[in-house]
Amino acid sequence: MDKFTSSFFVISAVFLTAIFIFTGCSGDQQTDRVEWAVALHGGAGTISQDLPDSVRQQYYDGLEQAVRTGQIVLREGGSALDAVEQVVKNLEDNPLFNAGRGSVFTSEGTHELDAAIMDGSTMEAGALTGLTTVKNPVSLARIVMEQSNHIFFSGQGAEQYADQTDVQRVENDHFFTQNRYEQWQRAQEQSHLYSDTYRSIYESVNADKFGTVGAVALDMNGNLAAATSTGGMTNKQFGRVGDVPIIGSGTFANHVAAVSATGWGEKIMQQVSANTIANLVEFGGYSLQEAVDYLLEERLQPDEAGFIAVDSEGNIVMNMNTPGMFRGSIDSRGNKEVKIWIEE
Ligand code: ASP
Repeated sequence: MDKFTSSFFVISAVFLTAIFIFTGCSGDQQTDRVEWAVALHGGAGTISQDLPDSVRQQYYDGLEQAVRTGQIVLREGGSALDAVEQVVKNLEDNPLFNAGRGSVFTSEGTHELDAAIMDGSTMEAGALTGLTTVKNPVSLARIVMEQSNHIFFSGQGAEQYADQTDVQRVENDHFFTQNRYEQWQRAQEQSHLYSDTYRSIYESVNADKFGTVGAVALDMNGNLAAATSTGGMTNKQFGRVGDVPIIGSGTFANHVAAVSATGWGEKIMQQVSANTIANLVEFGGYSLQEAVDYLLEERLQPDEAGFIAVDSEGNIVMNMNTPGMFRGSIDSRGNKEVKIWIEE
């Protein structure tokens, strides 16, 4: 082989190896990248480990079904916004969870529902508090976001806004469930016993468990969204507004992260929790996991809250400082989780 031919072979070999390494790497990155992800919660709190097997199974089934709802939207190329709305709607219709049907009782023995949704790609949001006749508050929140000049409607005004739309309406007792009724009765007895401080109300609620449902998602276009919906806290007083519909407290999404909270609303609000988590990631150099853990460990007290969050790379975090949180998630790589307690 002459000198020219051998250098030709050497150069070709180097060139081919470079192409191989390059395409090999980018191929791996392609499969490693999370294209879409969704996480959801059905409330955090003290969830008894003695749940009868059949009830336990109902919760797992409900969470599985909600996870599947999100998966179907996202893997077909649907938006993060559609995914979080559909997941939350599914959980609102499930009487096991404290949102929509199955909402807790106010101190007056009625149901007042709160919800919010936020599109991380536009930072647009819609929120409602004190709804009494809207079957799926999350869908009305989306209509507020997309069609109204405002972001947040309350009480009678929220109902009036609903009148101008075609959202499905129900009687207030549509939200009734026997379990929640009994829970409210217990809360009433206990708050009379321990005087009417908020702590005692909280403790009596948390002794059962409290609720709220939420979802966060990343779609194939890299957009993030969050939605949360709740009946609030058992025995809450007239006109009480929790963290859920307060944009940045219980619900937040931007281009960095989407977060939905559950737990003691007043405490979550004081820390502007969902926005703080996103800010720690954007400005503080925290990973999503570190940001959520910082809130749970440093800013909130044990037994106060749980968060689900997803970032723009599809990292999912679901963590709480309560003994349990109904939760589930799935991503495009097939990582799936459905859990209730910390240790499972
Ligand atoms: N955070 C909700 C509220 O305070 C309650 C909950 O998540 O259980 O209204």
